[in-house]
Amino acid sequence: MNHDPDCIFCKIISGAIPSRKVYEDDEVFAFHDIHPWAPVHFLLVPKTHIPSMAQAGPGHAPLLGRMMVLAPLLAAEQGCRPYPEGGFRILVNTGGDGGQEVHHLHLHVIGGPRPWLKG
Ligand code: 5GP
Ligand code: ZN
Repeated sequence: MNHDPDCIFCKIISGAIPSRKVYEDDEVFAFHDIHPWAPVHFLLVPKTHIPSMAQAGPGHAPLLGRMMVLAPLLAAEQGCRPYPEGGFRILVNTGGDGGQEVHHLHLHVIGGPRPWLKG
């Protein structure tokens, strides 16, 4: 399990920085985004520090697969309406040109009845 002492999300995972927790198991942690863009907006992160999707290798595939399968379950728990009328968006910003600000790999899970989600 990698840990970066300067990483804000590693500090959230360890509890050194408080967050509103959505879910936790031995591999992943989910918490509400501090500046939500939509009625549902939480972040799903691996507990091990991976800077971004650009550093994800074949060994991370099972973990990332688990996260993609977990995201819809957590989205439903958080109030996203069911597919197909409802749903949500999964967003993974990667690197500077990808708009990534926190360099610990994270899935944004964003949902709720908002017109801009169609864009
Ligand atoms: P990025 O642009 O890196 O994809 O997104 C980082 C996200 O982390 C942003 O949406 C931002 O609001 C959120 N964020 C940054 N710092 C904190 C924090 O201390 N606590 C929480 N809950 N979210 C944070
Ligand atoms: Zn980290």
